[in-house]
Parts: sequence; C-alpha cells; structure tokens
Amino acid sequence: MDIVCTHEEEKLFATIGEKAAALGFSCYLIGGFVRDKLLGRPTKDVDIVCTGDGIALAHAVAATFTHKPHVSFFKNFGTAHFRQNGIDVEFVGARKESYSEHSRKPEVSPGTIEDDQRRRDFTINALAISLNADNYGQLVDPFNGVADLESKIIRTPLDPDITFSDDPLRMMRAIRFSTQLNFTILPEIFEAIHRNRERIRIISQERITDELNKIMAAPKPSIGLDLLYRSGLLREFFPQFVALVGAEIMDGKGHKDNFYHTLQVIDNAAGKSEDLWLRWAALLHDIGKPATKRFEEGHGWTFHGHEVVGERMVPKIFKQLKLPQNDKMKYVARLVALHLRPISLTKEDITDSAMRRLLFDAGEDLEDLMILCESDITSKNKQKVRRYLENFELVKIRLKEVEEKDRIRNWQPPISGEEIMRTFGIGPSREVGVIKTAIREAILDGQIANNYDDAWQLMMEKASELKLHPVQS
Ligand code: ATP
Repeated sequence: MDIVCTHEEEKLFATIGEKAAALGFSCYLIGGFVRDKLLGRPTKDVDIVCTGDGIALAHAVAATFTHKPHVSFFKNFGTAHFRQNGIDVEFVGARKESYSEHSRKPEVSPGTIEDDQRRRDFTINALAISLNADNYGQLVDPFNGVADLESKIIRTPLDPDITFSDDPLRMMRAIRFSTQLNFTILPEIFEAIHRNRERIRIISQERITDELNKIMAAPKPSIGLDLLYRSGLLREFFPQFVALVGAEIMDGKGHKDNFYHTLQVIDNAAGKSEDLWLRWAALLHDIGKPATKRFEEGHGWTFHGHEVVGERMVPKIFKQLKLPQNDKMKYVARLVALHLRPISLTKEDITDSAMRRLLFDAGEDLEDLMILCESDITSKNKQKVRRYLENFELVKIRLKEVEEKDRIRNWQPPISGEEIMRTFGIGPSREVGVIKTAIREAILDGQIANNYDDAWQLMMEKASELKLHPVQS
C-alpha cells in the first residue's frame, strides 16, 4: 500500500519535520489521515503527534507561512489547530492515558509514540508515518494496522474489553467505520462490544447521535444499523426502533419483520438520495407499527393508523436522540404521516381531488415522498415490484397533470385569515379557522373554483351559519 500526497501536503510535512527537529521533538503523521491515504480515500484532516509540546510546534510551523494562519489551541489538552490552504492540521503531544470507571476522561501524561498509538481506538487508526530526518516517510505500525487495512478488519490494539470500557464511544466508532469502509469487526471484538453495551450510557447522546448520523450518511446504512441491533447497543439508546424487530405468526398468518424491512427501505432511499433527513424519514416511516399492531380474525395482521402514530412519535424521538427540533423534524414527521398516500393513489378511479390533496399536503416535499414510497417497496417478488413501480409512474404523471392545471403546490387559498378577521371585525378565533378550512377543503374537493369570487361567496355563507356579520368599511 502506497500513499500519494499532493505537492502542498509534501511541503507542509517537510516543514513540520524540520520545525520539530529544531525543537528537539520527534513527530509523526497519525490516525485517520494515514488510514485514508493508504485506502486512497479523500482526506483533508491531518493529525500530527510529537514527543513534546504540540502547541509550540503548531506555532513554529504556522510562523513559516507568508500569510500566517491563526492557531487555536487548548492548553489543558495540549492540542493546537490551524487551517492552511484548505488543509486542517491538528497537533498534539504524544501521551499515555489511564481511565477511571465512571468517565471517559482519562488521566493523561506525556508518553512515547508507541504509548500514543496504544491509546488509539483501532489498529487501522493507530498507523503513523515518521516525519523525522533519520527515517522520514517510514510507516510505524506496531499493531499490524496495514495488514488489517488489507484484510478489511476492525480490531482494537489492546484487549477490547479495556478499550471499550475505557471509552464506550469507541463501540459506536467501530460500527461506524465498519459501515463507512465496509470492513468486518472481528468476532471477538464484536463480542466485547456486546459485553460492554451498557457502558454506552456514560456517553452523551449528542456524541452517540453524531456517530449514528455518520452511519446514516454512509452508502449502505443497514450495515451499521444491523450491527447496532445485534450488539445490543441500539436497545440502549433507541428502544423504539428495536421494537420493530420480529415477525409474529398467528393462525398461520405472519407479517414481515418490520426492522429488516425498514433497513431495506433506508438502503433503497440511500441509493436514490444523499439527503440525511430523507433517510431518517425512511428509518421512522413504520415506527408506529408496534403500537398499532392488531390481529383481526380471518383477516390477519393490521397496523391501522401507524402513519398517524408514527408522525406523533417523531418529535419525541428527535428530542430523545438530540436531533434538531426544527424544520428538519417537521419534514420527517410530514413524510412519515404521508408515506401511504401515494400508494393509495395507485388504485383505479382516483379523482383529481385526491391528487390535489396530496399535492397540497406534500407541497415542496412531493419528490422526496415519492422516493420514500418507491423505497418502501421491498417485495422479493420481482413482478410485483415492477407492477408497483409502473403504477407509481402513472401516479407521477397524473400528479404532474393536475399540478399543471391547478397549481396546488405552494398554493394559498384566495382568502386569508387576515381578510376573514377584517371582514367580520373579529380577532383570531375558532370561527376564522372554520371558515378558512371550509374554503380550502371546498377548493381541494373541486366543489368551488379556485378563485376569489367563489371563495368570497362561500365565506359569506359560512359566516352567516356562524352568525357573523360583515362590518361596514
Ligand atoms: P473521521 O475523520 O472519518 O471521523 P478519523 O479517524 O480521522 O475519522 P477522528 O475522530 O478525527 O476520526 O480522530 C482522529 C484519530 O484520533 C483517529 O484516527 C484515532 O486514531 C484517534 N481517535 C479518535 N477518537 C478516538 C477515541 N474515542 N478513542 C481512541 N482514539 C480515538
């Protein structure tokens, strides 16, 4: 395995080596940069470890540039960082770590390069390249990280029970790297994750979710989600998702395993879109199924209303997982709520008004909703899949036609709440809502035309039913 660096990088590394020598330190490239270069993956984050004061080295290197970059540093951690020509460079002094049981904050003392490699999470992340004059460019690989890179294996440099118990976030990282790189976690390492799963509780939810999102953003998120489930970690922080596992059989009637179905839906969506939140909608689309599951005599399993229950679960799950409580959450909730609607439009004799309703309800998110629905078709029966997809194409054509005719997406009814209040001299109240909804529904149902005069007339009728009278202007 060879590494290829840009001219910029080579110049930078030579400077770092020289400055370290001048300070009397040895120094090395280490960690993710070395791993990714050996794998031929793009990387812009350079980590430098030196046997001495990393902050002093960072300042010495930064001072050599014509436009001196700003060096930010943390005295307590002995780390420093600057950004030069789009490359992020982080400096740290080599250290030895020892942990106590209740925290992932270790006791730190200065150490050798090998001490520093030993504290790294995985052999593939413990690789170093010397920047010292006597062996410049040489790989320093005491834990056979290169062999593990070649065999695509995730393994800890030390006893995995110690590695994972010391810093349980590493369990999430093992699964994340396995997903991103398509590497196998060695069985004994995976067993250690299972043994230490409860230790994840000492990790903040933000850090756990950060890793979870990296898994979700990978080309095939199911790899990591399945490992999270099988290791027992998922149950620790996301039991609602684990509740989807399993297929029950009653009177000879079964239902699909909704967990593995969901994983397939996420992978399908990931194959069509990079959008993290669309993938979250895929993850959560059936989350209301366990709560709505019923067995109906002579009929089989039903999950009536699971899309409504699922929609309501989204804010709680976002809060629990410390995901953003903003329009992304609303978007996910909307897609969960609507995920069955396009399928219902594949039946025959669907009216324009049903099409208009979906256009109105999905608005901007219609394309994403269609991706979610197509991803939701996970039948093994190829003919069935083809038939569904063909029907979807027809729905898309109909939706396009209706939209061109009626312009329902981003549509606002011709009379606003403001105007209703002004006309009848009332403030915000239930009556305003009743009139607004009546106008919107009548237009979507095609009972009145989508214009101001028809809407005005309906407003007057509804107002008189509510005993409201227009004020004189
Ligand atoms: P990515 O950039 O994809 O997250 P990375 O390996 O560069 O990958 P960082 O989090 O930037 O990940 O960490 C840089 C290096 O620091 C790692 O390669 C690893 O050697 C070490 N490291 C990071 N987190 C831990 C940890 N929790 N325990 C031990 N070593 C770690």
